[in-house]
Amino acid sequence: MKTPERAAFDALPHPTVVVVGGGFAGLELIKRLAGKPFKVILLDKNNYHCFQPLLYQVATGSLGADNIAHPFRRTVGPMPNVIYRMGEVLRVLPEENCVETDHGKVAYDHLVLATGTVTNFFGNQRIAHEAMQLKSIGQALDIRSDFLQEFEAAVYLEDEHAQRQRLNFVIVGGGPSGVELAGALAEIRKTILKHEFREVENQRMQIHLVDGGNEVLGSFSTQAQQRALKYLQELGVVVEFGARVTEYDGDTLRFQDGRTLHSTTVIWTAGVKGAPVPGLENSLEERPARYKVDAFNRVADTANIYAVGDIALDMSDPAWPKGHPQVAPVAIQQATHLAKNLLRKSNAAWAPFKYRDKGSMATIGRYKAVVDLGKLKFGGPVAWFTWLFVHLMSIVGFRSRVMVLTHWAWKYLSWKNTIRLIIRPYVRKEYKVAEPVAEKAG
Ligand SMILES: Cc1cc2nc3c(=O)[nH]c(=O)nc-3n(C[C@H](O)[C@H](O)[C@H](O)COP(=O)(O)OP(=O)(O)OC[C@H]3O[C@@H](n4cnc5c(N)ncnc54)[C@H](O)[C@@H]3O)c2cc1C
Repeated sequence: MKTPERAAFDALPHPTVVVVGGGFAGLELIKRLAGKPFKVILLDKNNYHCFQPLLYQVATGSLGADNIAHPFRRTVGPMPNVIYRMGEVLRVLPEENCVETDHGKVAYDHLVLATGTVTNFFGNQRIAHEAMQLKSIGQALDIRSDFLQEFEAAVYLEDEHAQRQRLNFVIVGGGPSGVELAGALAEIRKTILKHEFREVENQRMQIHLVDGGNEVLGSFSTQAQQRALKYLQELGVVVEFGARVTEYDGDTLRFQDGRTLHSTTVIWTAGVKGAPVPGLENSLEERPARYKVDAFNRVADTANIYAVGDIALDMSDPAWPKGHPQVAPVAIQQATHLAKNLLRKSNAAWAPFKYRDKGSMATIGRYKAVVDLGKLKFGGPVAWFTWLFVHLMSIVGFRSRVMVLTHWAWKYLSWKNTIRLIIRPYVRKEYKVAEPVAEKAG
């Protein structure tokens, strides 16, 4: 028998909007459609929204996983016209107006795809297997366990070379994720390694940030790039440009120019690609694996399917000929805009999407950050407090905000990262070369 709430939902005389993915875009969309004349079904393979910009703080033990995750059921609880279903969407069946999930089919009148991105290893299977990633909470916890395990293992080693190899951390990719992670690891050397692993000479820990280009924070202003580089170098991060990685076997990293670097921990932040759902291959731009959409976020060659956020590629705006940047504000603005359009009476009244770029910011260790706000560009402690405030206010849920503030206050006043627990040890899996498929005789 149905609960009264479920019966009331089913009886709503409204069209059904199925939203796949509860990241920045999906979450904003359901909030905008709450209480409006739609039946909304949110599908996500995880039962929580993840605040990805702070993943590096989970990876480096400053925040707990639950500080940056918010359960979908708590969000949709007060929304009678919105329900959540945990499930992975396996295929879109446009001719049937439904999606196939690992729990069966879900029908829609309007479908919104907001599945975001995954790490892009540019086809290199071996690197994908050996390197660590920073795209999910599970991966952030792996990095946290890994660096603590490496510290614990280094304590046993007498040989300097072997110890250095264990304490060599390489981050590939000088974008915001790589820069923020490198800064946080450098802080760990100054704090945790120095004070709590006193048997290890802390200068033996090296943090390398390698990038194939010739600057960090490629999408930021030149001032921000130069400031960020200076901050990283002040923290003792070894920044190497023109360093194009070609191979990594779990021990040795090889570069295109023949150089090598020995490390048991390589974290790959060098790119992302879309996470499309099978079934709409004709509407995909293959290289970044993003759905081609028009200015209304409608997926190419479809009538009632939309894509928003990182997975959408809208090249209709002359200001962004290669599509919008894959950042949270784009995702949120597209979702807000799509909700407004869906609520308009006729299609003729739909307005095209225009992105309002409000600026970018990145933090590089304590009291150091860079902020680009249009013509206003600044760094140092003011930028750092700006970064802190903006991120704190953006976290979903009052409880999480209070928890994050408490952790940060403790960390920045006591100089101690709070969470140094190896709850779920990180175990590297052995790499197996795929067996060639034997040809059938006859
Ligand atoms: C480490 C890191 C740091 C970042 N820092 C910043 C920053 O400082 N500022 C900034 O603006 N942006 C930052 N970004 C980028 C920002 O997080 C993304 O632009 C944003 O998350 C995109 O939102 P989205 O809704 O498109 O996708 P996502 O937030 O990635 O959400 C996608 C959702 O879809 C779900 N999903 C995927 N596939 C399926 C499926 N088949 N079935 C069911 N569910 C599915 C996932 O579980 C997820 O919940 C950062 C990203 C990372 C990884």
